[in-house]
Amino acid sequence: MVAHRLDEITPLMANQIINSHHHRTTSLGCWESQAKPHHSGYAIVSVSIGFTTNLHLIALIADNRHGELKTALGRSNFDVSHLCHNRTCFNPEHLIVESIQHDGYRQQEPVGVGKNGDELL
Ligand SMILES: [Zn+2]
Repeated sequence: MVAHRLDEITPLMANQIINSHHHRTTSLGCWESQAKPHHSGYAIVSVSIGFTTNLHLIALIADNRHGELKTALGRSNFDVSHLCHNRTCFNPEHLIVESIQHDGYRQQEPVGVGKNGDELL
């Protein structure tokens, strides 16, 4: 993980990155890039200062939520989760920092995402 390098990204830089990747908004409000997702399922981005990271982490910085990001990266039992279950999404409103255990509980619940044959899943 490149937590220390994410500290070098300012909200202004993060916003520029997000804006340049925001290709479309789905019917569920997910922000998606034109780039093919990484094999992990996440959208990734090469940052001009020399490393590659997940686009949704950049989105948290752009949304002035660096503190939350630090919580997620600094504690092994915390992670940045997608409320929409769409890993390629980088809409900060769909992102939440929570314990991994918590995320596991939520994913057992039925969700409305992906029904009706939409393009999400
Ligand atoms: Zn989303």
